[in-house]
Amino acid sequence: MAKAGGVVAGVGVAALIAYSLYNWLPAWYNPFAPLSPDDPPTMVTRYKLRQMANEPQACLAILRQASDKGMISFREQNNVAGKCPLDAPVRVTQFGDVRLSSSFLASCPLALSSAMYVQQRAKPVAASIMKSELTRIDHLGSYACRNIYNRPGARLSEHATADALDISGFRFANGQHITVLKGWNEQNARGETLRALFDQSCPFFGNSLGPDYNAAHANHFHLGMRGFGICR
Ligand SMILES: [Zn+2]
Repeated sequence: MAKAGGVVAGVGVAALIAYSLYNWLPAWYNPFAPLSPDDPPTMVTRYKLRQMANEPQACLAILRQASDKGMISFREQNNVAGKCPLDAPVRVTQFGDVRLSSSFLASCPLALSSAMYVQQRAKPVAASIMKSELTRIDHLGSYACRNIYNRPGARLSEHATADALDISGFRFANGQHITVLKGWNEQNARGETLRALFDQSCPFFGNSLGPDYNAAHANHFHLGMRGFGICR
C-alpha cells in the first residue's frame, strides 16, 4: 500500500509540474505545448521539429497553419514508392512573398523548418544587411534517390528522403543576386549577408553544411534534417 501511495504521489507531482510548465512557460520553452510556426528556434522547438518526423499528420496540420499565416505555399503530394520511398511528401512552391527558382519536393519537417527559417530569420537578416528585400531563393534540388556524394556503398543521402534542400543563391528587390559560389568569400555586404544567412539557418536544421565544410559544398548550402545542430 505504501509503495502504491508513493507511486500515486509521484504521478501527482509529475502532473503538477507538467501543469505548471504548460501554464507558465512560453510555448517555445514548453515541451508540452504544441509547436507553432512562429516559435523561435530554442532547444525545445528543435526537439518538437525533430518529433514531427514521427507524426506526419501533426506536421501537416502545423504546415497548414504556416500556410494560413502566409509563410509558405505548398501542395500535398502522393506517396512515392520504390527504392527511395516518401510518405506524405509536399511540394513547396513559395515562402510567402519569397519565390523559388523552382518548386521542390520536401518531407513535411523539411518544409516546415525551411518556412520557419525563411520567415523568422532569412528575410529580416537579408533586409537589414543588404538594405533590400529578399525576393527569391535559388536551389539545386531536394529529392534525389542517391547515396551520400553519389558514392557506391555509402549510406543513402538525406536527399533520398527529401529531407534536405541545397540552396545556391539569393536574389533581392534591388536586382542584386548573390551566389554561394562567388559571394561566400567576398568582404562586403554581399559576403556578410551570405554568411549571416548560413549562420541563421543552423538553429532550424539538424545540419547546415556550407563552403567551409568541403569542396562539395562550394556552391551551395546543404540544409538537412539529420543530426542535431551540426553547423559548418
Ligand atoms: Zn545536399
